[in-house]
Amino acid sequence: MRIDRVYLENFRNYAAQTVTFHPACNVICGENAQGKTNLLEALCCLSCAKSHRTRTDKELIRFGAEGFVLQGEIFSREREFVSRLEVRRGRRKAMSVNKVPAKTASELSAVLGTIFFSPEDLQLIRAGAAERRRFLDASLSQLRPRYAAALSEYQRLHEHKTRLLRDCADRPDLLATLPDFNRRMAETGAVLIHYRARFTDLLARYAAAAHRECSGGKEELTAVYRTVSAVTDPFAPHEVLREELLEHQRLHEAAEFSSRQCLSGPHKDDLEVFLGGLSARSFASQGQTRTAALSLKLAAREIHRDITGEYPVLLLDDVLSELDPRRQEFVLNRLGSAQVFITCCEEDRLHQLLQGNVYYVSEGRITE
Ligand code: ATP
Ligand code: MG
Repeated sequence: MRIDRVYLENFRNYAAQTVTFHPACNVICGENAQGKTNLLEALCCLSCAKSHRTRTDKELIRFGAEGFVLQGEIFSREREFVSRLEVRRGRRKAMSVNKVPAKTASELSAVLGTIFFSPEDLQLIRAGAAERRRFLDASLSQLRPRYAAALSEYQRLHEHKTRLLRDCADRPDLLATLPDFNRRMAETGAVLIHYRARFTDLLARYAAAAHRECSGGKEELTAVYRTVSAVTDPFAPHEVLREELLEHQRLHEAAEFSSRQCLSGPHKDDLEVFLGGLSARSFASQGQTRTAALSLKLAAREIHRDITGEYPVLLLDDVLSELDPRRQEFVLNRLGSAQVFITCCEEDRLHQLLQGNVYYVSEGRITE
């Protein structure tokens, strides 16, 4: 899978421009605030139909313009595709693939998959469990529609039960519905655990390999899936998981009433990351944190390839800083045959680049 060419019109600080890319490595170089991240964001929008950085599409429209257009020529599944995304103020966004209107973003993702890595992703290592759960949920939802459905059902039930626990002091009649919520949460919770166990197992293996290679064999990364304590084996059959979740709920019933919070279920799951046996969250250096977070993303890329048969396009925003020369060399040359985009500010790091193009961005204009 690769992006051969992209056309941007009134997107962020780009006026109108067509850029042709290299099938392997594309390095986007420039000073601060010139449009490097904006370009990666545009490529990401061509696969997700929205930006991970903003809540509204309007922010993406160039100041003073009426709307933006992104068009990409993409090679995937051994065919050529033209994907297009158009946003106009006051109108619904329009998407198409090969001029056929697309109703949902998943039609764009089916043509182009992307994995984005930015400095904010260091939170994957540094922050609490919620950040890692978000990563698991987003990666799994993209690949497994049944997981996506179970997740949204679970979140709905969780919200509802939380409200119920909050309001039941004033309205004891609400309690009659609680057993039904518990049963359904155990049912869908077991589905989440089933998928997460398998995904994190693969992720841990791929991430360990990536981290080992990036650190020149010096560091050992391990990642461990943590779920509800009553679950003895997250790979157990559905019925076993469901019964264990129900048992955990029973044990925590009193605590749930007194705290008025939903305490039992996989909404507290975590993927704990260790480097050389030490918690990465507490002990990793800046470079190690960056390497570990990148390794998790690269692992998600491998799983994407296992499932779909193709590597998604990798978008690396500002990863080179804080890495020592050997780790930089790994990022530039050893991410395999798939297409990669890397932004950076300092050109002097690029003498290590073997195969690819370097682009320069200045005030929203790209030159080769
Ligand atoms: P850095 O090296 O600091 O990360 P960068 O090259 O990645 O810089 P970008 O984030 O791509 O920078 O671009 C930032 C510039 O784009 C900012 O100066 C910002 O004002 C401008 N910009 C952002 N949104 C819009 C918009 N909707 N219209 C016009 N310009 C915008
Ligand atoms: Mg940037």
